[in-house]
Amino acid sequence: MEPTDSSPATSNITVRRGEPLVVVKDINKHYGELHVLKNINAVVNRGEVVVVIGPSGSGKSTLCRAINRLETIDDGVITIDGVKLPAEGKALAHLRADVGMVFQAFNLFAHKTVLENVTLGPMKVRGLSKAEAEKKAMALLERVGVANQAKKMPAQLSGGQQQRVAIARALAMEPKLILLDEPTSALDPEMINEVLEVMVDLANEGMTMIVVTHEMGFARKAADRVIFMAEGEIVEETSPEEFFTNPQSTRAQDFLSKIL
Ligand code: ADP
Ligand code: MG
Repeated sequence: MEPTDSSPATSNITVRRGEPLVVVKDINKHYGELHVLKNINAVVNRGEVVVVIGPSGSGKSTLCRAINRLETIDDGVITIDGVKLPAEGKALAHLRADVGMVFQAFNLFAHKTVLENVTLGPMKVRGLSKAEAEKKAMALLERVGVANQAKKMPAQLSGGQQQRVAIARALAMEPKLILLDEPTSALDPEMINEVLEVMVDLANEGMTMIVVTHEMGFARKAADRVIFMAEGEIVEETSPEEFFTNPQSTRAQDFLSKIL
């Protein structure tokens, strides 16, 4: 979407221009016979919010996992901030630290406190002292509205609170982008909004985000672009408004008729 006079700087649909941060070029992925990612090409620019949407099994999670190297790819290239994803080793750990990841099932460390969940990565990977990491963690927990839960264990928190901790934990690493894979799908309905609000705030602050979600409200409010995937392919790539009101492909039309 190009900026226009009708999109003032304060609007949350203001186009955020930037250099390409994530470049996915001609990637393929098979699980045995199953061709899960079919020649995927995509670019996410710095400061951009891209929503990935599509039926279950279309390859959305596999694509996210490939971008974070949690999954290998058969061919093609993924670069983050100009650096090709290394296969393994220390370089991979550092590159992975640049990509914050939030999953559907909260994935907090169950036997660590909320605070420890957020301080662990920065101490281990970024070399922060305990005091530095705790100061930073408390500020982030404050920002996502769960500072008063810092001493508790994850299981003592609601799903919405746990997911906000997961976001704080991802942010604590000062990632270049954050990838959220269906972050609200496992939540009770009354907790979805508190997580979406944190995500909208992040988007408005200029965080680069790839978000797999079917939450149309979030897409409309925060996304610069929607990527629609089906059967391992990117079928449509357009603005949220265009996608939800005027989907071009039969597959997108079918999908939307089921979720809307
Ligand atoms: P989505 O996130 O869009 O629902 P996924 O990326 O999870 O889709 O899965 C894409 C396809 O790959 C599905 O058919 C799924 O069953 C299959 N798949 C995912 N992970 C594995 C795996 N580890 N082994 C075998 N098949 C898998
Ligand atoms: Mg998935």
